[in-house]
Amino acid sequence: MSILVTGGTGYIGSHTCVELLNAGYEIIVFDNFINSKPEAIQRTKQITNKDFKFYKADLLDRSAMEQIFTKNQIDAVIHFAGLKAVGESVEIPLRYYHNNVGGTLILCETMAKYNVKRMVFSSSAAVYGNPATVPIREDFPLSTTNPYGSTKLMIENILRDLYISDPEWSIALLRYFNPIGAHKSGLIGEDPNGIPNNLMPYIARVAARKLEVLSIFGNDYPTKDGTGVRDYIHVVDLSLGHIKALEKIMQTSGVEAYNLGTGIGYSVLEVISAFEAASGQKVNYKIAPRRAGDIPECYADSVKSKKELDWVASRDLKEMCEDSWGYINKLASFKKAGRPL
Ligand code: NAD
Ligand code: UDP
Repeated sequence: MSILVTGGTGYIGSHTCVELLNAGYEIIVFDNFINSKPEAIQRTKQITNKDFKFYKADLLDRSAMEQIFTKNQIDAVIHFAGLKAVGESVEIPLRYYHNNVGGTLILCETMAKYNVKRMVFSSSAAVYGNPATVPIREDFPLSTTNPYGSTKLMIENILRDLYISDPEWSIALLRYFNPIGAHKSGLIGEDPNGIPNNLMPYIARVAARKLEVLSIFGNDYPTKDGTGVRDYIHVVDLSLGHIKALEKIMQTSGVEAYNLGTGIGYSVLEVISAFEAASGQKVNYKIAPRRAGDIPECYADSVKSKKELDWVASRDLKEMCEDSWGYINKLASFKKAGRPL
């Protein structure tokens, strides 16, 4: 079976390509490298010892999309390509709507034209806005607090309408919680450009002495220790969830949303101490004001994914921290040796 992976050189995309290849799927990958590096292609091949076709292409380029569908036999699409920085989406919302929503429209139109009607879509827990209670179930009310989240919710609605118009479509909306960690090889992982926005890459850089101090955004939330609580999930567990979702959409039609989280909430302070234990490094931090738009607590009810996808996350916070640290060290050793990252 042959799967088109959009955004396949990105953080989650590259890990999912590894799991797809390991599971025996053929893959065709495209990316425009707006937030990833070509090295991910070679690394994915190196880890799996398997080959695949790659196109440097933009989702917004309709003729490039047409070419990919003309030249390849495609059974289903896993759609990762999109811009994902929450803060940036507030500053340049039109770019986010254009890229994420506009790009998905072009992708869906091309898929329909070539009669490919199966898709796994990267949605986000951002579609739950500020939930009234936790753990969060898939049937909770949906709302968003920033343009990035709005693009995800709009795309979910577009995909639901698409199915209503043509019941041959089969779509899984995967709502990710907080992916962290890296592949055990240390060859692929998350290495954001500039100063990281997210907690784990920030902690990793403080531990590696690339940044001086972590600001904890608020210690007066109504949580176990006052700091924000999130559901961190190992990126490999998340990737395996895509394989399960793919198996599901190949057998059914319809649109279903699934949470991909562990169901466990950890505070910022708990993540810091787990990272210190895993790395043996001190993570300097200071308490700073709350970050605008942050919610106190967010973790998944993952019963539906377990029941309908036969999927559960099995890697714990210790392993997530060890693998993030392993990746950071591998990057540093590549830099030292003057090899491309
Ligand atoms: P990422 O930025 O590492 O990967 C996205 C990839 O898409 C990048 O390689 C980028 O170059 C590519 N891309 C973006 N716009 C494109 C376009 N127009 N044409 C072609 N390629 C394009 O991000 P990620 O963390 O791997 O996230 C993958 C998906 O999962 C995204 O849709 C993201 O919104 C979603 N998601 C991520 C998280 C998270 O915390 N990482 C959480 C929830 C949802
Ligand atoms: N956080 C923090 N300092 C940082 C980055 C994040 O204290 O430099 C906190 C943030 O307030 C939240 C948690 O860490 O409680 C996870 O934040 P992240 O941006 O990684 O994910 P999201 O907020 O999107 O769930």
